[in-house]
Amino acid sequence: MERKVTWETYDEGQMKELEALNREYRDFLDNGKTERECIDTIVNTIEAEGYRELESLIESGAKLQKGDKVYSVCMNKSIAMFQIGEKPLTDGMNILGAHIDSPRIDVKQNPLYEDSGLAYLDTHYYGGVKKYQWVAIPLAIHGVVVKKDGTIVELNVGENEDDPVFFVSDLLIHLAGEQLKKTAAQVIEGEALDLIAGSRPIRIDAGEKDEEGEEPDKKKAKEAVKAGILDILKENYEIEEEDFISAELEIVPAGKAREAGFDRSMILAYGQDDRVCAFTSMRAMLDVKETERTMCCILVDKEEIGSVGATGMHSRFFENAVAEVMNLNGEYSELNLRRCLAHSCMLSSDVSAGYDPSYASCFEKKNAAFLGNGMVFNKFTGSRGKSGSNDANAEYMAHLRKVMDEREIVWQTAELGKVDVGGGGTIAYILAEYGMNVIDSGVAVLNMHAPWEATSKADVYETYRGYMAFAEGAAL
Ligand code: MN
Ligand code: MN
Repeated sequence: MERKVTWETYDEGQMKELEALNREYRDFLDNGKTERECIDTIVNTIEAEGYRELESLIESGAKLQKGDKVYSVCMNKSIAMFQIGEKPLTDGMNILGAHIDSPRIDVKQNPLYEDSGLAYLDTHYYGGVKKYQWVAIPLAIHGVVVKKDGTIVELNVGENEDDPVFFVSDLLIHLAGEQLKKTAAQVIEGEALDLIAGSRPIRIDAGEKDEEGEEPDKKKAKEAVKAGILDILKENYEIEEEDFISAELEIVPAGKAREAGFDRSMILAYGQDDRVCAFTSMRAMLDVKETERTMCCILVDKEEIGSVGATGMHSRFFENAVAEVMNLNGEYSELNLRRCLAHSCMLSSDVSAGYDPSYASCFEKKNAAFLGNGMVFNKFTGSRGKSGSNDANAEYMAHLRKVMDEREIVWQTAELGKVDVGGGGTIAYILAEYGMNVIDSGVAVLNMHAPWEATSKADVYETYRGYMAFAEGAAL
Protein backbone atom coordinates (compact mmCIF):
# COMPACT_ATOMS: atom_id res chain seq x y z
CA MET A 1 0.00 0.00 0.00
CA GLU A 2 1.11 3.53 -0.76
CA ARG A 3 2.58 5.63 2.05
CA LYS A 4 2.43 9.40 1.94
CA VAL A 5 5.06 11.62 3.53
CA THR A 6 3.35 14.55 5.24
CA TRP A 7 6.21 17.00 4.61
CA GLU A 8 5.82 16.63 0.85
CA THR A 9 2.18 17.74 0.97
CA TYR A 10 2.58 21.15 2.64
CA ASP A 11 2.60 24.56 1.00
CA GLU A 12 4.23 27.61 2.54
CA GLY A 13 1.13 28.62 4.47
CA GLN A 14 0.78 25.18 6.00
CA MET A 15 4.47 25.12 6.96
CA LYS A 16 3.89 28.36 8.86
CA GLU A 17 0.86 26.88 10.59
CA LEU A 18 2.86 23.74 11.40
CA GLU A 19 5.65 25.73 13.05
CA ALA A 20 3.24 27.92 15.02
CA LEU A 21 1.33 24.87 16.30
CA ASN A 22 4.55 23.16 17.34
CA ARG A 23 5.76 26.26 19.17
CA GLU A 24 2.54 26.28 21.14
CA TYR A 25 2.93 22.55 21.70
CA ARG A 26 6.40 22.99 23.20
CA ASP A 27 5.05 25.65 25.59
CA PHE A 28 2.24 23.28 26.53
CA LEU A 29 4.80 20.58 27.38
CA ASP A 30 6.96 22.99 29.39
CA ASN A 31 4.00 24.30 31.37
CA GLY A 32 2.48 20.89 32.04
CA LYS A 33 4.90 18.31 33.33
CA THR A 34 2.36 16.81 35.74
CA GLU A 35 -1.38 16.09 35.42
CA ARG A 36 -2.18 19.02 37.71
CA GLU A 37 0.02 21.42 35.76
CA CYS A 38 -1.58 20.18 32.52
CA ILE A 39 -5.07 20.85 33.88
CA ASP A 40 -4.05 24.37 34.98
CA THR A 41 -2.62 25.08 31.53
CA ILE A 42 -5.66 23.66 29.75
CA VAL A 43 -8.17 25.54 31.93
CA ASN A 44 -6.31 28.83 31.41
CA THR A 45 -6.23 28.25 27.67
CA ILE A 46 -9.85 27.21 27.20
CA GLU A 47 -11.31 29.83 29.55
CA ALA A 48 -9.59 32.48 27.44
CA GLU A 49 -11.44 31.00 24.47
CA GLY A 50 -14.90 31.11 25.99
CA TYR A 51 -15.24 27.88 27.97
CA ARG A 52 -17.24 28.09 31.20
CA GLU A 53 -17.13 25.77 34.19
CA LEU A 54 -20.02 23.30 34.26
CA GLU A 55 -20.40 23.44 38.04
CA SER A 56 -20.96 27.21 38.07
CA LEU A 57 -23.58 26.86 35.31
CA ILE A 58 -25.36 24.17 37.33
CA GLU A 59 -25.39 26.47 40.33
CA SER A 60 -26.83 29.38 38.38
CA GLY A 61 -29.37 27.12 36.66
CA ALA A 62 -28.20 28.18 33.20
CA LYS A 63 -29.52 26.55 30.04
CA LEU A 64 -27.14 25.26 27.42
CA GLN A 65 -27.62 26.02 23.75
CA LYS A 66 -25.97 25.26 20.45
CA GLY A 67 -22.43 26.66 20.35
CA ASP A 68 -22.04 26.83 24.15
CA LYS A 69 -18.71 25.66 25.54
CA VAL A 70 -18.41 24.07 28.97
CA TYR A 71 -15.85 22.09 30.93
CA SER A 72 -15.66 20.10 34.13
CA VAL A 73 -12.50 19.24 36.07
CA CYS A 74 -12.15 16.23 38.38
CA MET A 75 -9.77 16.67 41.34
CA ASN A 76 -7.40 18.85 39.32
CA LYS A 77 -6.26 15.83 37.32
CA SER A 78 -8.75 15.16 34.54
CA ILE A 79 -11.10 17.25 32.45
CA ALA A 80 -14.09 16.91 30.14
CA MET A 81 -14.85 19.67 27.62
CA PHE A 82 -18.02 20.03 25.56
CA GLN A 83 -19.04 22.22 22.64
CA ILE A 84 -22.77 21.88 22.11
CA GLY A 85 -23.75 21.00 18.56
CA GLU A 86 -26.85 21.57 16.47
CA LYS A 87 -28.32 18.09 16.90
CA PRO A 88 -29.67 16.71 20.17
CA LEU A 89 -27.07 15.04 22.40
CA THR A 90 -29.16 11.90 22.21
CA ASP A 91 -27.87 11.53 18.64
CA GLY A 92 -24.36 11.09 20.02
CA MET A 93 -21.19 13.11 20.34
CA ASN A 94 -17.82 13.11 18.60
CA ILE A 95 -15.35 12.46 21.38
CA LEU A 96 -11.61 13.07 21.45
CA GLY A 97 -9.89 11.34 24.36
CA ALA A 98 -6.29 11.22 25.56
CA HIS A 99 -4.35 10.93 28.81
CA ILE A 100 -2.22 13.50 30.61
CA ASP A 101 -0.30 11.35 33.09
CA SER A 102 3.18 10.21 32.04
CA PRO A 103 5.74 7.74 33.39
CA ARG A 104 7.88 9.30 36.10
CA ILE A 105 9.30 8.76 39.58
CA ASP A 106 7.08 9.61 42.55
CA VAL A 107 8.35 10.64 45.99
CA LYS A 108 7.32 8.23 48.76
CA GLN A 109 5.21 9.36 51.72
CA ASN A 110 8.08 9.07 54.23
CA PRO A 111 10.92 9.92 51.90
CA LEU A 112 13.66 11.95 53.50
CA TYR A 113 16.74 10.17 54.87
CA GLU A 114 20.44 10.65 55.18
CA ASP A 115 23.17 8.15 54.39
CA SER A 116 26.92 8.79 54.49
CA GLY A 117 26.63 12.53 54.21
CA LEU A 118 24.03 12.58 51.42
CA ALA A 119 20.36 13.47 51.83
CA TYR A 120 17.93 11.39 49.79
CA LEU A 121 14.27 11.34 48.85
CA ASP A 122 13.05 7.75 48.67
CA THR A 123 10.91 7.09 45.59
CA HIS A 124 8.52 4.71 43.87
CA TYR A 125 8.39 4.84 40.08
CA TYR A 126 5.05 5.38 38.26
CA GLY A 127 4.15 3.62 35.01
CA GLY A 128 6.36 1.55 32.76
CA VAL A 129 9.94 2.79 32.88
CA LYS A 130 13.32 1.37 31.93
CA LYS A 131 14.85 2.28 35.29
CA TYR A 132 18.39 2.54 33.92
CA GLN A 133 17.30 5.52 31.78
CA TRP A 134 16.58 7.67 34.83
CA VAL A 135 20.00 7.70 36.49
CA ALA A 136 22.72 10.33 36.06
CA ILE A 137 20.48 12.92 34.36
CA PRO A 138 19.23 16.25 35.75
CA LEU A 139 15.80 15.85 37.34
CA ALA A 140 13.21 18.32 38.59
CA ILE A 141 10.59 18.02 41.33
CA HIS A 142 7.04 19.13 40.53
CA GLY A 143 3.96 18.74 42.64
CA VAL A 144 1.95 19.73 45.65
CA VAL A 145 2.27 19.41 49.39
CA VAL A 146 -1.09 19.64 51.15
CA LYS A 147 -0.82 20.70 54.77
CA LYS A 148 -3.18 19.55 57.53
CA ASP A 149 -5.08 22.83 57.40
CA GLY A 150 -5.74 22.31 53.69
CA THR A 151 -3.17 24.80 52.45
CA ILE A 152 -1.67 23.66 49.15
CA VAL A 153 2.00 24.41 48.57
CA GLU A 154 3.03 24.08 44.94
CA LEU A 155 6.56 22.97 44.17
CA ASN A 156 8.43 23.34 40.90
CA VAL A 157 12.19 23.09 41.35
CA GLY A 158 14.70 22.39 38.61
CA GLU A 159 13.23 24.07 35.54
CA ASN A 160 14.63 27.61 35.69
CA GLU A 161 18.23 28.04 34.62
CA ASP A 162 19.31 29.08 38.11
CA ASP A 163 17.23 26.45 39.92
CA PRO A 164 19.08 23.54 41.48
CA VAL A 165 18.38 20.13 39.94
CA PHE A 166 18.38 16.65 41.47
CA PHE A 167 19.76 13.31 40.32
CA VAL A 168 19.88 9.57 40.91
CA SER A 169 23.43 8.26 41.03
CA ASP A 170 24.81 5.39 38.96
CA LEU A 171 27.83 3.24 39.64
CA LEU A 172 31.03 4.34 37.92
CA ILE A 173 32.08 2.16 34.97
CA HIS A 174 35.36 1.30 36.72
CA LEU A 175 33.53 -0.69 39.40
CA ALA A 176 30.60 -1.86 37.30
CA GLY A 177 31.87 -5.28 36.23
CA GLU A 178 29.27 -7.17 38.29
CA GLN A 179 26.51 -4.63 37.61
CA LEU A 180 26.94 -4.90 33.86
CA LYS A 181 26.40 -8.66 33.98
CA LYS A 182 22.85 -8.11 35.25
CA THR A 183 19.89 -7.93 32.89
CA ALA A 184 18.77 -4.42 31.95
CA ALA A 185 15.61 -4.92 34.06
CA GLN A 186 17.78 -5.41 37.17
CA VAL A 187 20.78 -3.25 36.49
CA ILE A 188 19.09 -0.43 38.44
CA GLU A 189 16.75 -1.79 41.14
CA GLY A 190 13.53 0.07 41.99
CA GLU A 191 14.77 0.87 45.49
CA ALA A 192 18.01 2.27 44.05
CA LEU A 193 16.11 5.06 42.27
CA ASP A 194 16.39 7.37 45.28
CA LEU A 195 16.95 11.01 44.56
CA ILE A 196 20.00 12.84 45.88
CA ALA A 197 18.66 16.03 47.41
CA GLY A 198 21.58 17.56 49.32
CA SER A 199 24.99 17.09 50.90
CA ARG A 200 25.75 20.05 53.14
CA PRO A 201 25.37 19.55 56.91
CA ILE A 202 23.93 22.40 58.95
CA ARG A 203 26.62 23.87 61.13
CA ILE A 204 26.21 23.39 64.84
CA ASP A 205 28.92 25.44 66.54
CA ALA A 206 30.09 24.55 70.01
CA GLY A 207 27.89 26.16 72.61
CA GLU A 208 25.31 27.23 70.04
CA LYS A 209 21.81 27.82 71.41
CA ASP A 210 18.57 27.71 69.49
CA GLU A 211 15.68 30.21 69.79
CA GLU A 212 14.55 28.70 73.08
CA GLY A 213 18.06 28.93 74.46
CA GLU A 214 18.56 25.14 74.24
CA GLU A 215 21.52 23.37 72.67
CA PRO A 216 20.57 21.77 69.30
CA ASP A 217 19.61 18.17 69.97
CA LYS A 218 22.03 15.35 69.30
CA LYS A 219 19.82 13.65 66.72
CA LYS A 220 19.81 16.78 64.60
CA ALA A 221 23.60 16.81 64.79
CA LYS A 222 23.77 13.17 63.70
CA GLU A 223 21.64 13.80 60.61
CA ALA A 224 22.94 17.24 59.90
CA VAL A 225 22.47 17.07 56.11
CA LYS A 226 18.84 15.98 56.43
CA ALA A 227 18.36 18.69 59.06
CA GLY A 228 19.72 21.23 56.62
CA ILE A 229 17.22 20.14 53.95
CA LEU A 230 14.35 20.33 56.46
CA ASP A 231 15.43 23.86 57.40
CA ILE A 232 15.36 24.88 53.73
CA LEU A 233 11.92 23.28 53.19
CA LYS A 234 10.62 25.09 56.25
CA GLU A 235 12.10 28.40 55.23
CA ASN A 236 11.15 28.32 51.52
CA TYR A 237 7.84 26.47 51.60
CA GLU A 238 6.76 26.33 55.24
CA ILE A 239 6.58 22.57 55.08
CA GLU A 240 7.57 20.08 57.78
CA GLU A 241 8.78 16.52 57.39
CA GLU A 242 5.29 15.17 58.27
CA ASP A 243 3.78 17.13 55.38
CA PHE A 244 5.37 14.68 52.90
CA ILE A 245 2.64 12.26 54.03
CA SER A 246 0.04 14.33 52.17
CA ALA A 247 2.17 15.34 49.21
CA GLU A 248 2.18 14.38 45.54
CA LEU A 249 5.69 15.10 44.33
CA GLU A 250 6.68 13.90 40.90
CA ILE A 251 10.27 13.64 39.71
CA VAL A 252 10.60 14.38 36.01
CA PRO A 253 13.48 15.15 33.64
CA ALA A 254 14.60 18.77 34.09
CA GLY A 255 14.56 21.02 31.07
CA LYS A 256 12.42 22.29 28.25
CA ALA A 257 11.07 20.63 25.14
CA ARG A 258 13.56 21.03 22.29
CA GLU A 259 13.54 20.93 18.52
CA ALA A 260 15.61 18.00 17.27
CA GLY A 261 17.70 17.45 14.15
CA PHE A 262 19.68 19.89 11.98
CA ASP A 263 16.41 20.40 10.11
CA ARG A 264 14.46 20.98 13.35
CA SER A 265 11.89 18.47 12.11
CA MET A 266 11.24 16.78 15.44
CA ILE A 267 10.38 17.55 19.05
CA LEU A 268 12.41 15.93 21.83
CA ALA A 269 10.67 16.27 25.17
CA TYR A 270 9.48 14.58 28.33
CA GLY A 271 5.87 13.41 28.60
CA GLN A 272 4.84 13.37 24.94
CA ASP A 273 3.02 10.11 25.79
CA ASP A 274 0.32 11.23 25.82
CA ARG A 275 0.43 15.01 25.98
CA VAL A 276 1.02 15.12 22.25
CA CYS A 277 -2.51 13.77 21.76
CA ALA A 278 -3.91 15.80 24.67
CA PHE A 279 -2.56 19.04 23.21
CA THR A 280 -3.68 18.35 19.65
CA SER A 281 -7.13 17.22 20.85
CA MET A 282 -7.56 20.38 22.94
CA ARG A 283 -6.33 22.61 20.12
CA ALA A 284 -8.66 20.93 17.60
CA MET A 285 -11.54 21.34 20.04
CA LEU A 286 -10.84 25.07 20.26
CA ASP A 287 -10.40 25.58 16.53
CA VAL A 288 -13.50 23.72 15.36
CA LYS A 289 -16.32 26.10 14.52
CA GLU A 290 -19.94 25.11 15.12
CA THR A 291 -20.61 21.43 14.56
CA GLU A 292 -23.71 19.34 13.93
CA ARG A 293 -22.90 16.82 16.63
CA THR A 294 -21.81 17.91 20.09
CA MET A 295 -18.07 17.74 20.37
CA CYS A 296 -16.35 16.48 23.47
CA CYS A 297 -12.77 16.15 24.65
CA ILE A 298 -11.74 14.11 27.67
CA LEU A 299 -8.20 14.29 29.03
CA VAL A 300 -7.68 11.83 31.84
CA ASP A 301 -5.20 10.71 34.48
CA LYS A 302 -3.85 7.27 35.53
CA GLU A 303 -3.73 5.65 32.07
CA GLU A 304 -0.17 4.54 32.69
CA ILE A 305 -1.25 2.50 35.72
CA GLY A 306 -4.48 1.02 34.36
CA SER A 307 -6.94 3.96 34.17
CA VAL A 308 -7.94 3.34 37.77
CA GLY A 309 -9.01 5.75 40.52
CA ALA A 310 -11.42 8.67 40.61
CA THR A 311 -9.47 10.56 37.94
CA GLY A 312 -8.81 7.61 35.62
CA MET A 313 -10.99 6.66 32.64
CA HIS A 314 -12.75 3.92 34.62
CA SER A 315 -14.21 6.62 36.92
CA ARG A 316 -17.86 7.67 36.53
CA PHE A 317 -16.66 11.26 36.27
CA PHE A 318 -17.11 11.46 32.50
CA GLU A 319 -20.55 9.84 32.49
CA ASN A 320 -21.67 12.20 35.28
CA ALA A 321 -20.45 15.22 33.34
CA VAL A 322 -22.40 14.12 30.25
CA ALA A 323 -25.52 13.67 32.40
CA GLU A 324 -25.11 17.18 33.80
CA VAL A 325 -24.65 18.66 30.33
CA MET A 326 -27.79 16.86 29.11
CA ASN A 327 -29.64 18.14 32.13
CA LEU A 328 -28.74 21.75 31.34
CA ASN A 329 -29.69 21.06 27.75
CA GLY A 330 -33.14 19.84 28.78
CA GLU A 331 -32.45 16.36 27.41
CA TYR A 332 -31.58 14.36 30.48
CA SER A 333 -33.07 11.01 31.27
CA GLU A 334 -31.27 7.79 32.10
CA LEU A 335 -32.28 6.37 28.72
CA ASN A 336 -31.21 9.50 26.80
CA LEU A 337 -27.83 9.43 28.53
CA ARG A 338 -27.31 5.83 27.45
CA ARG A 339 -28.43 6.68 23.92
CA CYS A 340 -26.06 9.62 23.77
CA LEU A 341 -23.10 7.46 24.79
CA ALA A 342 -24.03 4.53 22.55
CA HIS A 343 -24.45 6.80 19.52
CA SER A 344 -21.14 8.58 20.05
CA CYS A 345 -17.97 8.18 18.00
CA MET A 346 -14.62 8.32 19.68
CA LEU A 347 -10.96 8.69 18.78
CA SER A 348 -9.09 7.25 21.71
CA SER A 349 -5.81 8.95 21.15
CA ASP A 350 -2.51 7.73 22.40
CA VAL A 351 1.00 7.53 21.09
CA SER A 352 2.00 4.72 18.79
CA ALA A 353 5.40 3.04 18.54
CA GLY A 354 7.34 4.79 15.79
CA TYR A 355 9.29 2.43 13.53
CA ASP A 356 12.90 2.45 14.73
CA PRO A 357 15.47 1.18 12.18
CA SER A 358 17.92 0.45 15.01
CA TYR A 359 15.44 -2.06 16.43
CA ALA A 360 13.90 -3.20 13.18
CA SER A 361 13.46 -6.80 14.33
CA CYS A 362 10.73 -5.74 16.82
CA PHE A 363 8.51 -4.25 14.11
CA GLU A 364 6.61 -5.59 11.14
CA LYS A 365 7.29 -2.94 8.56
CA LYS A 366 4.03 -3.13 6.60
CA ASN A 367 2.03 -2.50 9.76
CA ALA A 368 4.25 -0.06 11.61
CA ALA A 369 3.89 3.69 12.15
CA PHE A 370 6.62 5.83 10.61
CA LEU A 371 7.65 9.26 11.82
CA GLY A 372 6.45 11.82 9.29
CA ASN A 373 3.83 9.56 7.72
CA GLY A 374 0.94 11.30 9.44
CA MET A 375 -1.77 10.52 11.95
CA VAL A 376 -1.84 6.90 13.11
CA PHE A 377 -4.90 4.66 13.35
CA ASN A 378 -4.57 1.43 15.31
CA LYS A 379 -7.58 -0.76 14.60
CA PHE A 380 -6.50 -2.75 17.63
CA THR A 381 -3.85 -2.74 20.35
CA GLY A 382 -3.30 -5.39 23.04
CA SER A 383 -0.82 -8.18 23.59
CA ARG A 384 -0.45 -11.75 22.26
CA GLY A 385 -3.79 -12.64 20.58
CA LYS A 386 -5.00 -9.00 20.78
CA SER A 387 -5.62 -9.54 24.50
CA GLY A 388 -7.07 -6.48 26.23
CA SER A 389 -7.70 -4.68 22.96
CA ASN A 390 -10.64 -2.68 21.72
CA ASP A 391 -10.68 -3.97 18.17
CA ALA A 392 -12.55 -1.25 16.26
CA ASN A 393 -15.36 -2.20 13.90
CA ALA A 394 -14.50 -2.37 10.19
CA GLU A 395 -17.55 -0.20 9.41
CA TYR A 396 -16.18 2.52 11.69
CA MET A 397 -12.69 2.30 10.18
CA ALA A 398 -14.25 2.59 6.70
CA HIS A 399 -16.21 5.66 7.80
CA LEU A 400 -13.07 7.29 9.16
CA ARG A 401 -11.14 6.52 5.94
CA LYS A 402 -13.79 8.49 4.11
CA VAL A 403 -13.79 11.38 6.61
CA MET A 404 -9.97 11.64 6.55
CA ASP A 405 -9.59 11.29 2.78
CA GLU A 406 -12.26 13.92 2.08
CA ARG A 407 -10.17 16.42 4.07
CA GLU A 408 -6.87 15.19 2.60
CA ILE A 409 -5.47 14.13 5.95
CA VAL A 410 -2.25 12.12 5.70
CA TRP A 411 -2.73 9.04 7.88
CA GLN A 412 -1.33 5.56 8.32
CA THR A 413 -2.38 2.35 10.06
CA ALA A 414 -0.20 0.47 12.49
CA GLU A 415 -0.05 -1.97 15.32
CA LEU A 416 2.28 -1.89 18.30
CA GLY A 417 5.22 -3.98 17.06
CA LYS A 418 5.47 -7.50 15.74
CA VAL A 419 3.00 -10.17 16.82
CA ASP A 420 4.02 -11.67 20.19
CA VAL A 421 6.90 -9.24 20.76
CA GLY A 422 5.00 -7.19 23.35
CA GLY A 423 2.01 -4.90 23.29
CA GLY A 424 0.10 -2.31 25.25
CA GLY A 425 -3.29 -0.88 26.09
CA THR A 426 -5.09 2.45 26.09
CA ILE A 427 -8.38 3.92 27.34
CA ALA A 428 -10.24 2.80 24.20
CA TYR A 429 -11.85 -0.36 25.61
CA ILE A 430 -13.33 1.55 28.55
CA LEU A 431 -15.41 3.93 26.43
CA ALA A 432 -16.31 1.05 24.12
CA GLU A 433 -18.23 -0.47 27.05
CA TYR A 434 -21.00 2.05 26.33
CA GLY A 435 -21.44 0.44 22.93
CA MET A 436 -20.02 3.39 21.04
CA ASN A 437 -17.62 3.25 18.11
CA VAL A 438 -14.08 3.71 19.38
CA ILE A 439 -10.75 3.45 17.62
CA ASP A 440 -7.18 3.99 18.77
CA SER A 441 -5.39 6.79 16.98
CA GLY A 442 -2.57 9.21 17.62
CA VAL A 443 1.02 10.12 16.95
CA ALA A 444 4.11 7.95 16.36
CA VAL A 445 6.84 8.35 18.98
CA LEU A 446 10.45 7.20 19.18
CA ASN A 447 11.82 6.10 22.58
CA MET A 448 8.35 6.01 24.12
CA HIS A 449 8.40 6.15 27.96
CA ALA A 450 12.04 7.30 28.01
CA PRO A 451 12.86 10.54 29.87
CA TRP A 452 13.05 12.23 26.46
CA GLU A 453 10.65 11.08 23.72
CA ALA A 454 10.71 12.13 20.06
CA THR A 455 7.88 13.03 17.67
CA SER A 456 7.75 14.52 14.18
CA LYS A 457 6.43 18.08 13.99
CA ALA A 458 4.59 17.10 10.82
CA ASP A 459 2.75 14.30 12.65
CA VAL A 460 1.75 16.71 15.41
CA TYR A 461 0.28 19.05 12.81
CA GLU A 462 -1.35 16.32 10.75
CA THR A 463 -2.95 14.72 13.81
CA TYR A 464 -4.37 18.07 14.84
CA ARG A 465 -5.84 18.38 11.33
CA GLY A 466 -7.18 14.85 11.59
CA TYR A 467 -8.95 15.63 14.87
CA MET A 468 -10.62 18.65 13.26
CA ALA A 469 -11.78 16.50 10.36
CA PHE A 470 -13.16 13.93 12.82
CA ALA A 471 -14.98 16.55 14.90
CA GLU A 472 -16.65 18.07 11.88
CA GLY A 473 -17.20 15.01 9.73
CA ALA A 474 -17.72 11.87 11.79
CA ALA A 475 -21.30 10.63 12.28
CA LEU A 476 -22.00 6.92 12.43
MN1 MN B 1 -0.11 6.53 26.40
MN1 MN C 1 2.31 5.14 27.92
